[in-house]
Amino acid sequence: MKIKRIAHLGIAVKDLDGPKKFYRENLNLELAGEEVVETQKVKVSFIKVGESNLELLLPTTGDSPVAKFLETRGEGFHHLALEVEDIHAAVAELKAAGVRLIDEKPREGAHGALVAFLHPKATFGLLVELCEYPKSH
Ligand code: ZN
Repeated sequence: MKIKRIAHLGIAVKDLDGPKKFYRENLNLELAGEEVVETQKVKVSFIKVGESNLELLLPTTGDSPVAKFLETRGEGFHHLALEVEDIHAAVAELKAAGVRLIDEKPREGAHGALVAFLHPKATFGLLVELCEYPKSH
């Protein structure tokens, strides 16, 4: 597979306004969009950092995986997202190599991307998301 870049770092938060204000006013970064991702039960805000983004993750429901993360670990780093050229090929390659995956098939993520998460047990404790953006992105 070919990894192109760090697409974003996912950060779990309990509210969006405080962190957005901090990144804008104290770190002089720009907001690059905001959307609700129904399938993952989160509202996300992207903060642009050069070629990459910070992805602030706010749970929209009590049973959202991010809500559970906040309960047990509190706010902070949640996942690393790597952009790949072909996510179907990447997932197939990992499956063939016996790498444990959370998503056996790519599913829809923010920004019209296709995403698939690797299991943290396979990645030495890090939640890793692979994503592929539509060609027009
Ligand atoms: Zn993400």
